[in-house]
Amino acid sequence: MNPEVPNPNRVLVIDDSESIHRLIDARLRPDGLQVTGEVAPEVGITRAVSDQPDLILLDIGLPGIDGFEVCRRLQEHPATRHIPIIFLTGTADVDSKVRGLDLGAVDFVTKPFDQVELRARVRAALRTKRLQDMLEQQSFLDGLTGLWNRAYLDKRLEAELNVARRYGRALSLVMADIDGFKRLNDTYGHLFGDVVLQGISEGLRGYARRSDIVARYGGEEFAILLTDTGTKSAKYVSERLRISAESRNFEVKGVPVSVTASFGVVCCEDVVGELTPEAMIAAADRALYASKDAGRNCVHVNIRGEMVRIRPDDAAVQSPD
Ligand code: GH3
Ligand code: MG
Ligand code: MG
Repeated sequence: MNPEVPNPNRVLVIDDSESIHRLIDARLRPDGLQVTGEVAPEVGITRAVSDQPDLILLDIGLPGIDGFEVCRRLQEHPATRHIPIIFLTGTADVDSKVRGLDLGAVDFVTKPFDQVELRARVRAALRTKRLQDMLEQQSFLDGLTGLWNRAYLDKRLEAELNVARRYGRALSLVMADIDGFKRLNDTYGHLFGDVVLQGISEGLRGYARRSDIVARYGGEEFAILLTDTGTKSAKYVSERLRISAESRNFEVKGVPVSVTASFGVVCCEDVVGELTPEAMIAAADRALYASKDAGRNCVHVNIRGEMVRIRPDDAAVQSPD
């Protein structure tokens, strides 16, 4: 759940010789790398899409479609175009190298491998991959709070909804909005407003599970995506999130300032009509507005268009399912 960039260490080898897979595994495993191998080019491409390895070592002379064609397809596919490719070549032929680099490969290793060279080239490619991952992640982070930003939430909501639909899994979305935030800004200043945003963010992040996606959706609005979470759990979690906001202590010149937020939640199973990201957000928003209308600092759940208020007692006696 916390934004973090893992160390890239998963390598996919696409080569028609299994002894090459074993050899590369033996060379790279001591560096902490996980090597998997595929013999058939088409299967290799499918594997790359589903497993999302950090690096692909690709043979040129493959049966059926050759390595250049595999490279072209990997570069074309939105799910694999970011994965670096190192070609494995039996020859030192310059034309092949130029062609491979033009197709988007990052490097070449000539068979038979020099162990030290292979490891050094793999390390260099993974280093670049990590930098790219970090840059990509930066563009999805909110600078003030360190939470994910709206672009990331939108991207993940779409992806998680696809998973939920395909495998019939539950997915819930919580929208939260700080109460009377304009007045807090006007009374205590914008800097204090920023401190509140950071504190509330910390509270939300602290309560959420690792698999939840906590994002700053707009100025003082937050969205929390709860994967594998049905209506009953989502109600419980939202109420706990509300308490996490309410129980943060803020003060100005030693005087306590109370800050609360209102919440709206919906589970994908309770959305009326076509289940799209926009429909999820609109449904959670409607529940949030019901909480504002009901006097703020409370949670409503949208159950097939009916806004149901969550009583703190309901959440206290319920355990997550
Ligand atoms: P309600 O309880 O109905 O939500 O009232 P509200 O005052 O919170 O709602 P409103 O949407 O009127 O005000 C939101 C305010 O949030 C207005 C804007 O100045 C402030 N805001 C938005 N982004 C930031 C930010 O990054 N820092 C600070 N300090 N304030 C921000
Ligand atoms: Mg507000
Ligand atoms: Mg607002």
